[in-house]
Amino acid sequence: MARLVMKFGGTSVADIERIRIVAQHVKREVEAGHQVAVIVSAMAGTTNQLVEWTREASPLHDAREYDTVVSAGEQVTSGLLAIILQSMGVSARSWQGWQIPLRTDETHGSARIDDVEDSLLVARLDEGQVAVVAGFQGISDAGRITTFGRGGSDTTAVAIAAAIKADRCDIYTDVDGVYTSDPRIVSNATRLERVSYEEMLELASLGAKVLQTRSVEMAMKHDIPMMVRSSFDDPEALSAAFCGDNSVVGTLVCDEDEIVEKHVVSGITYSRDEAKITLLEVQDKPGVSAEIFGLLADANINVDMIVQNVSANGAHTDLTFTVPVSDFERANNVIKPLEESLSYRDLLGSTDVVKVSVIGVGMRSHAGVAAKMFKALADKNINIQAISTSEIKISVLIDSAYTELAVRTLHSVYELDKT
Ligand code: ASP
Ligand code: MG
Repeated sequence: MARLVMKFGGTSVADIERIRIVAQHVKREVEAGHQVAVIVSAMAGTTNQLVEWTREASPLHDAREYDTVVSAGEQVTSGLLAIILQSMGVSARSWQGWQIPLRTDETHGSARIDDVEDSLLVARLDEGQVAVVAGFQGISDAGRITTFGRGGSDTTAVAIAAAIKADRCDIYTDVDGVYTSDPRIVSNATRLERVSYEEMLELASLGAKVLQTRSVEMAMKHDIPMMVRSSFDDPEALSAAFCGDNSVVGTLVCDEDEIVEKHVVSGITYSRDEAKITLLEVQDKPGVSAEIFGLLADANINVDMIVQNVSANGAHTDLTFTVPVSDFERANNVIKPLEESLSYRDLLGSTDVVKVSVIGVGMRSHAGVAAKMFKALADKNINIQAISTSEIKISVLIDSAYTELAVRTLHSVYELDKT
């Protein structure tokens, strides 16, 4: 017997028929003798609608009431799944965040989980009852409903898994795992059997929107393996016997040490959410970068890549950096007034850029990964405008017209193509 957390996202509970299929997945695990806590999202599209209504009601609204409204979608699906499970003869009860209780801080809209009271929940699990938990929500010390930010049901799942010491945390979604690249661009992309927490964090923040980043951070901290798998697989076909070997049905997000067959590179991602700003011939003296990036920080603009040249004449240099596309205008408005004080020659900008990244824990111990990337891009005549690296990631900024070509080329160069 194992204790399982099963989380189902919005598309998996999109309507009553889909919720019936979810119930069959749950029943399968119950019949295999497991204790099960299920975490549900709101029906697909519901949270968007609720958010929209709060805006329509008043563009400037009380964040506490925002949480009251947007948390409602999960209340509906938790009740519906409990009803359907009961109708199938499976003992089940719904739980809202405040009933557990799942305690958070007061940051409405993106609250942090402080504590999960597990005793009530565990007592019911021990009695053989399925706990159907509304994701995405908790309760503050002030006794108000809080929510965790979009995609927050993943974080509920990991928090509950950690609290009840679950053996597994299965994240059911509309894809059957995490892929080596975006299958819409790379038809040869393959499902990863295992990926480390760290790689997943890079993949998640770079646009592989399978898991909320915070949930992966929490899973890494508490060492909770997460299995990303599809709720669209036939629940009947996934017999109990099959469940022993999960590597066949999804992607396991786990500790690096548990990955036997390590690849140097695990995935290629791209992000179109980048805009480039270049200051030509800005003064090369102490304090210039501090001033520019200080003002951008004050304006709450997140700078990603930064490139500064060594000054050729000792007086001037060029400075390039990237910001999210949505902050491009604002960033320009922050920099323009500095024209006098920094006496730069020109301010250039472009949104026709894309950031392509190569990710893999194997980079730590392998030389030449970057060189291979640059050579592959050069062979295709793709110019690199900026570069940034971390221990397990190399990113380049290129002309967005070459997105597909670059991603496909790198995917095959690092031997990730389906064979
Ligand atoms: N329903 C929430 C959202 O759409 C939380 C979740 O689905 O994880 O963001
Ligand atoms: Mg999600």
